[in-house]
Amino acid sequence: MKKRILTGDRPTGRMHLGHFVGSLQNRVNLQDEYDQFVMIADVQALTDNFDNPEKVRNNVRELVLDYLSVGIDPNKTTIFIQSLIPEIAELTVFYLNLVTLDRVLRNPTVKEEIKQKGFEKSLPAGFAMYPVSQAADITFLNANLVPVGEDQLPMIEQTREIVRKFNSLYGEVFVEPEALIGDIKRLPGIDGNSKMGKSLGNAIYLSDTENDLKKKVMSMYTDPKRIHPTDPGEVIGNPVFVYHDAFNSDKNEVNDLKERYKKGTVGDVEVKEKLFTALNNFLMPIRERREDLSKDTERLDQILIEGTKKTKLLAEETMKKVRKVMKIDYF
Ligand code: ATP
Ligand code: MG
Repeated sequence: MKKRILTGDRPTGRMHLGHFVGSLQNRVNLQDEYDQFVMIADVQALTDNFDNPEKVRNNVRELVLDYLSVGIDPNKTTIFIQSLIPEIAELTVFYLNLVTLDRVLRNPTVKEEIKQKGFEKSLPAGFAMYPVSQAADITFLNANLVPVGEDQLPMIEQTREIVRKFNSLYGEVFVEPEALIGDIKRLPGIDGNSKMGKSLGNAIYLSDTENDLKKKVMSMYTDPKRIHPTDPGEVIGNPVFVYHDAFNSDKNEVNDLKERYKKGTVGDVEVKEKLFTALNNFLMPIRERREDLSKDTERLDQILIEGTKKTKLLAEETMKKVRKVMKIDYF
């Protein structure tokens, strides 16, 4: 039997370059070898967008389009919607007994997000608990592998703790999942923030037009200490070069630009123009496929309906086991 992958995305916006290097690339590469499930995490998206359900709803199909346009094949990968699997919510309730409030709030990613979203003074309980719900997402199909970006490592660690606690209390039902981090652990934003994020307004989207791409690349944050093109610049950690490394297939060009940047013999404009060309070459076929796929909305719905139906049956099986070992399988 093939090992299982589960991963997912919040329908809070279209997918960006960070998703590609952090997770999508691995999903495309592994979908033959693994039994892969991809979850559209609408319940999780609502924990910090509960006042904007339209946004969450509208982005569900956008995610499907992004998946298919990068090469996720619905015949190999099952795509489903989180809210249509209420078993996940049921499992979350049981998992909440197995973690302390302190432990949940110690999660460094959650801490950072609380700050970023201005939740310090009034923290929605649902948001604070989302890593527990995520543990239920990851485990209800007994996934072995979870391809994610680095920001998700604390979630996987917490999931493993919950699994160990559950299994030791009630019996071996769940497997401890492993994280699989992408080639680039965390792609920085165009504003120099250490993470490109949908909710951070610093992303280059897979579906950005050529014009938008150009504007974004030319406005990118580079080495703040470098004022003139003749100043020697810093290459390491400089987002422009991080992107060149990730997306420019002409390695000679990248090395040449780096050498000249360090010596102060190339301007930011040339580095950015070459980056634009490389990114545009990378995004063009994705953009074109997306445009074609978007014409057949019925097919997109059908993919979600079938994926969700298949997932629901597996979820019911898991919950039967859970209720049995927890001694709540009354009749
Ligand atoms: P939001 O801002 O709404 O949280 P997001 O951009 O963080 O959106 P998610 O849907 O939360 O996107 O994340 C989906 C997956 O993509 C996760 O596995 C996450 O680790 C990965 N990911 C997101 N941003 C990056 C990034 N900048 N670099 C690498 N991986 C990323
Ligand atoms: Mg996120």
